[in-house]
Amino acid sequence: MKKHLLALCAPLMMVACNNNNDNIFFQTWDTPYGTAPFSQIKTADYIPAFEAGIRQMKDNVQAIIDNPDAPTFENTVLAFEQVSPILDKVEGVFFNLSESDSTPEMQEIEEKVLPLITEAGNEVMMNEALFARVQAVYEQRESLTREQQMVVKQLYESFQRNGVGLSGDARKRFAEINTRLATLSQKFGQNLLAENNAFQEATGVSVSEYYDFMASCSDRAKREQVFKAYSSRGNNANDNDNNTLVLETLKLRAEMAEILGYPNFAAYQLSNKMAGDPATVDAFLQPIMDAAMRSAKAQIKEMEALAGHPIEAWDWMYYAEQLRAQKYALDENQTKPYFQADSVLKGVFSAAEKVYGLRIEEAPEVEVYRPEVRAYKLTDAADGAFIGIFYRDYYVRPTKRGGAWMNNFREQEAGVRPVIVNVCNFPAPGDDPTEPRPSLLTIDNVQTAFHEFGHALHGFLSQCNYKSVSGTNVARDFVEMFSQFNENFAFVPEILAGYANHWQSGEPIPAALVTKIRQALKFNQGFTTGELCAASILDMKWHELSSEQLAAFDGAQSIRDFEEKVCREMGLIDEIIPRYRTTYFNHIIGSGYSAGYYSYLWSEVLAVDAWEKFLADGVFNKATADSFRKTFLEKGGSEEPMTLYRQFRGADPDPSALMRARGLE
Ligand SMILES: [Zn+2]
Repeated sequence: MKKHLLALCAPLMMVACNNNNDNIFFQTWDTPYGTAPFSQIKTADYIPAFEAGIRQMKDNVQAIIDNPDAPTFENTVLAFEQVSPILDKVEGVFFNLSESDSTPEMQEIEEKVLPLITEAGNEVMMNEALFARVQAVYEQRESLTREQQMVVKQLYESFQRNGVGLSGDARKRFAEINTRLATLSQKFGQNLLAENNAFQEATGVSVSEYYDFMASCSDRAKREQVFKAYSSRGNNANDNDNNTLVLETLKLRAEMAEILGYPNFAAYQLSNKMAGDPATVDAFLQPIMDAAMRSAKAQIKEMEALAGHPIEAWDWMYYAEQLRAQKYALDENQTKPYFQADSVLKGVFSAAEKVYGLRIEEAPEVEVYRPEVRAYKLTDAADGAFIGIFYRDYYVRPTKRGGAWMNNFREQEAGVRPVIVNVCNFPAPGDDPTEPRPSLLTIDNVQTAFHEFGHALHGFLSQCNYKSVSGTNVARDFVEMFSQFNENFAFVPEILAGYANHWQSGEPIPAALVTKIRQALKFNQGFTTGELCAASILDMKWHELSSEQLAAFDGAQSIRDFEEKVCREMGLIDEIIPRYRTTYFNHIIGSGYSAGYYSYLWSEVLAVDAWEKFLADGVFNKATADSFRKTFLEKGGSEEPMTLYRQFRGADPDPSALMRARGLE
């Protein structure tokens, strides 16, 4: 069940009168592979389906509680996992389309259903009678299979983390804090949006263009103005100032963690992640920071020679770009013609076919939700076993939210194969029939295509019994391992040879160009890694404060002073600032990555360390690929990540693999 925090209290209005028998979500889908019959879904079906799904959930929760038999895994945990098939069905479709094809009608429905399912979800997670049964199963978990143990552990912990064990004043205060935090995070997002718009108005540069602009603007005074405006968002002592809000958020989080018995919010957040505790994350990040700063300091000298003056924070990206052009002469206009979107997808598929022995073919019999979306069928090349259905939704359109992601329409579980989508915002092909122009991708786009299919493979190759631990349902600091791992195949010569052909001449990409791409990818890593690592450390340091320590903080200056102290202590040089400063760090204040921004670097270590084994054994070594597939991709979250990692690698992950991969040695 997806859980949403947004609580817009709009009164529920019925959308048209709908005969339940016509509602597509109440019917069995007699379609190829049971995929969604998109053309038969009416927008009027959604709200009644959500309402029926919530009723079904409530009835089934009551039935679990009322069961006279002693609690078992089957009659309690598994029953809860399957508590509402209607909700699974409607959520699987709705929350995919509300992101990838968000029409005004869909937005209207979303505003109505979010409060409904949030409230229903909270009610269930605070249900003590249900928790008592889950706890009984949890306490006798030794007799269960390993996968069942993981399922019940996760469920038990999520009840606890939601405060079900609290009573009296603590329970009341916990609920108050939760409600207030939801409001604060929403307000933070709204303020930031206003500040981003104000930034664009004042400078003529949008936030998403910032890095490109700073790398290409030769006017130094203008760069200084843009840098200062960008880095003071949320800190302008105006109506959209985020300082007070940030401090209240941090204080409430610390209090909430303390109510649950943790020393601080970082300890609470880390307790169900692969890293486990804040000290492990701190010890992980500092050596990366040190390596990044060594590299950055060496690069400053080269940039100063080019600039003829000392480098300030607003000069870095501009002179780095100048230096990159001078060193590698890589122009993306040279590479794009070799990266036609359809061919790149072929490359993505061929890597998976070659490495994991799959067969991927177009499935025109499967309905899609937009004409530009394509459906594919995955089978095992050896025995023809059906693996799943894949939708490719690559091109930008106004109804799609920004970014790129993988999602499930249907999760894998015993007897059920998954249906998975990759959504990207690649340039759409030209629609002028007299001058056909395909979608041509940047190097970053190519990496994104491989990245998202890495998530898809994690979903497809899953062989779990229970969907709550299948596929990508793993800890946040583990999940990006598989996407980042899959990026490695993009520029492997054997794979590249199969897809990187000039869209007009058909010529393969010249080897010299590939070398330039590889070198350019390792350039400026002191800066790139440094700003990412600095933001990760800043996030940790804020959330490692106890409420007693936070009580001393008051006003904007206290935030600035703390940021400065943390940056000094981590060894960040003045020419670089954290990728996000506190008042515009949406990941950690406005969304769910608090004490979690390190996850990107953490997963990357796992990805590059595993890749080193592939390189050592031969990229297409069957035994290594089989072991990777069996140990990780088939297991999802059915075992502790570190246990799986040690099984595969025979050792702990080696953080210095990240320095090697990023060229920071
Ligand atoms: Zn990802």
